[in-house]
Formats: sequence, C-alpha cells, structure tokens
Amino acid sequence: MKYSTVLNQLERCIHPVTRSDLKLQVLGKSLNGRPILKIQMGIQGRRRILLSAGIHGDEPAGIFAILQLLEQSLLAPYLNHWEIIILPCLNPDGFEQGTRNNAEDIDLNRQFKLLNPPLEVKLAQSVFDIPFDLTLELHEDIDSPGYYLYQKSITGSINHQLGKKILQKITAIMPVNQQAEIDGMPATNGVIDRLKDPVEMDFWPMALFSFHKGTSCCFTLETASKFPMTDRVAGHSRAVLTALNHFQS
Ligand SMILES: [Zn+2]
Repeated sequence: MKYSTVLNQLERCIHPVTRSDLKLQVLGKSLNGRPILKIQMGIQGRRRILLSAGIHGDEPAGIFAILQLLEQSLLAPYLNHWEIIILPCLNPDGFEQGTRNNAEDIDLNRQFKLLNPPLEVKLAQSVFDIPFDLTLELHEDIDSPGYYLYQKSITGSINHQLGKKILQKITAIMPVNQQAEIDGMPATNGVIDRLKDPVEMDFWPMALFSFHKGTSCCFTLETASKFPMTDRVAGHSRAVLTALNHFQS
C-alpha cells in the first residue's frame, strides 16, 4: 500500500465536520517529504495514552490497526476518561519502500538515547512534553509463532498484570508465543519484562525513552507476521482496547 492511501484513509475517518473531538497535526516531514502526523483525541488533563505505529516500515499491521480503531470509532467510548495521542506512522519512507529502516537506512527504534537523533525520532520525542500514563507501540515479528509483548512498568505497579491480561484476550485471535526465550530475552507466556534499568543500556528503543520520560507503563506489542493481515490487525486492535479497559491509576 502507498503512504498516500494511508493518508487518504486517515483523512476520511477524521473529517473535521464529523469528528470535532479530534485534532490532526503535521509534526514534520520525513527525509523524502512525507508528512508525519499526530492525532489528538479526548480531554486534556485526564489519563494519557500514546499509541504509535510504523517506526519499522515493514511492519504495517499497527498502522492498519490504528486506521481500523479510527474508522470504526472504537476509541470513542474511552474519550471521557482518556486523552489519546496517536502517531499513526513514524517512518513513512520505510513504509513506502517496505523497509524496516528509514530512507537513510537507520533503525529508528534504536536511536532514542542519542542527543541528536534522526528527524523522525525527534518528532516522536516531541510528544512527550507531558508525561503519559500508558504507551503502546505496535510492531510485527516475522519470525514469531505468535503474539507477544515487552512490558516496562514502574516497580510495584498496580498494572503489572496488564500484559498478561492483554495476551489472554489475544488468544481468541492468534496463539501467544509460549517460548521461554524470545528475541534473546526470558519470556513468560508471551510477556517479556524489561528488567534492565534504561541508564544501563547503550541504546534506547522508544519504549525506554517513554519510561525515562515518566510513563508508568510502557508496552511494545508484537503481532506475528506469519498470520493473515486481518488477524494481525485484529490482534493489535484487541490489545489496545484491552489496555484501555484494564489500566488502573
Ligand atoms: Zn518492529
């Protein structure tokens, strides 16, 4: 799919006449001139969630899940309790080329600790001016036999079971990756608890930047690319809605 098709679909489902509850902003442009968008919904001052996708250009399911959530107004029931910020596609050049990396062949999700990161990363970082309660990043894994997630939350968080709850709801759509080790990290029933302190790490993915910025609960959600797109999209949509349903503050 072309990025222009994504933009057209977004524009259709966030038409200002029908959606006065929603604000669309162009944060900036990618290296090849494609707009990087931010969508803001709900009431400021409530619980804040960031939903982001497409930082890896060859993982489109997250972008399509966001389109589905918007098109079907599935986020509407939450807007009295949440301010929802959406970054629907952080790497449009990669999306257009079907590559993980951006137009400069950089993996953007490794650059969040740099003092002078690539433009797309700077734009993503710019939405963290006010801390979030919850951040969800939508990814895909081409090698995984099922859905899994990375969780990083503050010590003793009342939301420490939230990852498990999300995966329980996923099983109706696709299997959960039950491997004891996923991507070189210990996993329990599809949950990888990020144990390291971000300051000990040489590089940060977006989730650790988010944690560093004061987000109490950060998830990186990985759908399995071996399943049909409709299932991958349904899995991510279900995960987002489960997180909104069960997050406690
Ligand atoms: Zn990814």
